[in-house]
Amino acid sequence: MTRSCPKCGKDQTKAQPFVKGFCAQCYFEQHPLIVLRRPPEAKVCPRCNAYYTSGRWVHQGSVPDADHVYNMVCDLLDPLFDPSEPATFEVELVDSSGTPLSKTKKVDVDITATIHTLNYREKQQLTLPITLVLCGQCKQTAGGYFEATIQVRTASGKLSPAQGNQIAAYITQRLNDHDLPKSTLKFTEKREGFDIKCISGRFCRSLAKNLATHFGLLLKVSSKLAGRTRDGKTLTRETYALRFPPFEIRDVIEYMQQPFMITGLRNGRYTLTNLKSGQKQNLSPKELAEIDAQSLNDQIHSYQVISLEDDVYQLMSQRDFTIYDYPDPSKPLQVGSMVSAIEWDDSLVLLPDVEIDELPSHRQ
Ligand SMILES: [Zn+2]
Ligand SMILES: [Zn+2]
Repeated sequence: MTRSCPKCGKDQTKAQPFVKGFCAQCYFEQHPLIVLRRPPEAKVCPRCNAYYTSGRWVHQGSVPDADHVYNMVCDLLDPLFDPSEPATFEVELVDSSGTPLSKTKKVDVDITATIHTLNYREKQQLTLPITLVLCGQCKQTAGGYFEATIQVRTASGKLSPAQGNQIAAYITQRLNDHDLPKSTLKFTEKREGFDIKCISGRFCRSLAKNLATHFGLLLKVSSKLAGRTRDGKTLTRETYALRFPPFEIRDVIEYMQQPFMITGLRNGRYTLTNLKSGQKQNLSPKELAEIDAQSLNDQIHSYQVISLEDDVYQLMSQRDFTIYDYPDPSKPLQVGSMVSAIEWDDSLVLLPDVEIDELPSHRQ
């Protein structure tokens, strides 16, 4: 005997089982799956596109805009889904053009609730109005608030565009890693580098240390009294001075009457390779800044490997075409190739390869 719905008289089938004695249509008419008593409020920061949910601001980080809008919609709607029967919910953006949130007045979404076992589906379209409110961080920056400063300075002259770009890319990555908006930091160009004012003292400290290690910089911390809190505690403001040492990767220097090349930077320490003996030593940026050494960079020249006879290479200077014998090379050379070398004690020393993790040359 087949059961029929007491409300509409429809018979129960295998594909459409009944719910609590009624057909799904009649049951869910009375007990809908999607019940949003109040449309959720979307608060968005017009400066950094952060949105507010469950008591905190979620920053954009590296998420592309369409995903960011989608995440916001899910974060706002998920806690409001409270179906009468266990169901799965899907949310779809009606317009997923990826417009930044701060330029959007409303977000239209399609919500689908499904109970697969009952072959039942419910749909609803919803519009979330967007209110623009400055997030906590942007409000602080707007007020000129900052807790710490990082100063980046070169040894001489200006930062090269390559140096500037590498540092900027590194800082952007750190902000994304910590889900902090760009407005956390305020950059000011200076003659020999730049200053960064930071509204989070903690982030600033870790950023300064990471920059020092990653780029092989000298770090000096100083603090200044910045006032008192209401309960009498002193407030200090840290300045992290980061300086490039006078020499950098690929520089050739004379140190202790020997020719050295800076051949590496690992974990914040420079590797110096003795070009005569091949011996290596490690120096911190501070030690590198303090050694008594002269640059030999202007003595680096190009030589062409022109022939090989009885295990002796003949190298021709590209400057004055003098030919040098180069016996017993530690690595085989290709005849016809070019090598860089300096002249030392009337013979040539070849420059070794540079070993670095990910940092390309600072030089242009
Ligand atoms: Zn029915
Ligand atoms: Zn903001």
